Amino acid sequence: MIIYKSLIEKYKKYLTVSNKTPIISLNEGNTPLIFAKNLSEKLGFNGEVYLKFEGMNPTGSFKDRGMTMAVSKAIENGSKAIICASTGNTSASASAYAAKAQIRCIVLIPKGKIAVGKLSQAVMHGAEVLEIDGNFDDALYIVRELSNKYPLTLVNSINPYRIEGQKTAAYEICENLGQAPDYQFMPVGNAGNITAYWKGYKDYNKMESSKYYLPKMMGFQASGAAPIVEGHIIKKPETIATAIRIGNPTSWKTAEEVRDDSKGVIDKVTDEEILKAYKIVAATEGIFCEPASAVSIAGFIKYIKQDYFKNSNSIKVVCILTGHGLKDPDIAIAKATSIIKVKSNINEITKTIGF
Ligand SMILES: *Cc1c(COP(=O)(O)O)cnc(C)c1O
Repeated sequence: MIIYKSLIEKYKKYLTVSNKTPIISLNEGNTPLIFAKNLSEKLGFNGEVYLKFEGMNPTGSFKDRGMTMAVSKAIENGSKAIICASTGNTSASASAYAAKAQIRCIVLIPKGKIAVGKLSQAVMHGAEVLEIDGNFDDALYIVRELSNKYPLTLVNSINPYRIEGQKTAAYEICENLGQAPDYQFMPVGNAGNITAYWKGYKDYNKMESSKYYLPKMMGFQASGAAPIVEGHIIKKPETIATAIRIGNPTSWKTAEEVRDDSKGVIDKVTDEEILKAYKIVAATEGIFCEPASAVSIAGFIKYIKQDYFKNSNSIKVVCILTGHGLKDPDIAIAKATSIIKVKSNINEITKTIGF
């Protein structure tokens, strides 16, 4: 019997860990790559579309892949406390891994913009949560300063171990498909994840076999928070996709390199397009992702509409669904429901449902 333990265990040979590294794991990784036949049909796309559902990680987002590495290395290096700025998922993940490692976790969040599911995780795992009267970029500046001055390990994606852990998602896709996809669609916030995936695909080609190829990396920002697309810092980023509500991305430069090296794009989609994609993927594939994740689908739809793929017959597309929809139920209720109010009466209900 083979029991999956952790991505560090599985991908040891690709990661900077040794036998001395204590593995702090919640069995992250090994997430499903789901063939999305209904979605392809709905969109009129003739190629193969797959959804990498990263919401199936232990705390409900891909952040766990990076956090298992960041926290394991922090413990190896004797750290007793970690710190991060977060739009939500980083804090949810950091606090869970800190709980597992039994160390302090300090979290700075922007005022009033954290999805309730994410905040409840940080609180339950015992993080020390500080809400600042500023945005994510302000919070990140402060935690960078604090981690430079005090014995606090920064676990935002500036931490190189985060990127290292996150690149394992690309290995899994190569294993599942037997090759890299032709195109990978994904959201871009701080741009750590697009950096990580590209690294992963390049690694796999080098270490395993060049038969895996390299995908075109298609990254998307929300139009109210699209500094890379606009070419300048956005002072007051706004979008319903709170996980990518970032005006000054940490990995801005590398995101541009990934775009150019892979012959892909960094583009933007509107909140309206995001909400539409959010509903389509839930209704066609039975997968509930958070709004920031639906950015992948929104970008894909945008490019289908632009006739970008010309002949899509033999094309393989992977859309990364970065986080679980249950993280942000308020948006679903507010933006996507059509609840019908009826009396508790069998005749009225029978009529309403059309029998
Ligand atoms: C963090 C996050 C992103 C953005 O990833 P970056 O590495 O910051 O570009 C997208 N979606 C979700 C759900 C996230 O938690």
